Amino acid sequence: MKVVLENLTKIFPSRDKKSGKEVVAVNNFTFEIPDGKLIGLLGPSGCGKSTTLYMISGLQKPTSGKIFFGEDDVTELSTENRGIGLVFQNYALYPHMTVKQNILFPLQNLKGKDKLPKNEMLERAHHAAALVQIDELMERKPSELSGGQQQRVAIARALVKMPRVLLLDEPLSNLDARLRLQTREEIRRIQKETGITTVFVTHDQEEAMSISDLIVVMKLGVVQQIGQPQEVYDNPSNLFVAKFLGTPPINVFTGSVQNGKLYLGEEAVLDVPGVADQPVIVGIRPEGFELSNNGALTCGLNNVEVMGRDVSIVSTHAASVNPVVRSIINADNRIDTSSATVRYNLKPHKVFLFNSETEERIQFEVK
Ligand code: ADP
Ligand code: MG
Repeated sequence: MKVVLENLTKIFPSRDKKSGKEVVAVNNFTFEIPDGKLIGLLGPSGCGKSTTLYMISGLQKPTSGKIFFGEDDVTELSTENRGIGLVFQNYALYPHMTVKQNILFPLQNLKGKDKLPKNEMLERAHHAAALVQIDELMERKPSELSGGQQQRVAIARALVKMPRVLLLDEPLSNLDARLRLQTREEIRRIQKETGITTVFVTHDQEEAMSISDLIVVMKLGVVQQIGQPQEVYDNPSNLFVAKFLGTPPINVFTGSVQNGKLYLGEEAVLDVPGVADQPVIVGIRPEGFELSNNGALTCGLNNVEVMGRDVSIVSTHAASVNPVVRSIINADNRIDTSSATVRYNLKPHKVFLFNSETEERIQFEVK
């Protein structure tokens, strides 16, 4: 089921009587979520991810704009009638019910023509439990489960009605690191097996990048960029997106373009054909540096951190916006740690230029 968001906007009235300023939580969001895909809705806290999800679910009414499931306009439809499954960060299971009763609950609430015979309800509950691999735990109470198991129950409960759309709001945030990793792979597997169009909200870029078919990066209610994770990482449309994706984060410098060359301080570090002379903000991915004895960029060498397959070189540069410059180099490289400086050549496709005022990307030709 494709989901279409058309100029979706949500404005909250002011909470602060004095300033009286309203909050534009979601600002003119237009996007067609393709059928059967998993979309990662990504951005810092407060950027409007949950509000977007709640509008898709019907828990919140848009101030303006429309939502379609397939060809159906569901904008005015109540949550119960949208055919969605919702999973929250805090599981929200009924503590006095067993796992089985929790999963059955949405089916027992079906009314009229939707009502199912008891054996079919049980069959569906067992099928959902098996999908998330908790079928052994059906008689337990939520308090007798780990966080990861509780979240699986919540997912099974969302799947049991065979939703048209699955909506997940930071479902992994309460889990510890290992379980988070395991559960996100599970969610991906379940999504692929069921083929349910899914919106997955997270503030964690790595999480979104690893499981999404497409990511949507948001900032202050405004969509910044939509694309395949690798595509957005390799081709960010502005400084915000470039900084939001990637660990370690992108290195940011202030520089200038003169006669088709990029300068960091006094050094011309890269050819950037076709760019007019101007001050620029420069982003260099950690993997964009190549060690070279006569490299174009000279940095002060702080220290080298061994990470196994790779090493991370921590250095300094006067034009760097951050206290240190972090590069990731293959561990086969020899680094003279007694040297005061380290020199690099830059990989052109790992260097991004941004307008120093608008912070929008400035493209140059990569030879
Ligand atoms: P996210 O999920 O990305 O952290 P939210 O969608 O929860 O962000 O919130 C977006 C913005 O809308 C924030 O500034 C938040 O304070 C505001 N907001 C969210 N819900 C309400 C509400 N019920 N009333 C007023 N403001 C709200
Ligand atoms: Mg939220």
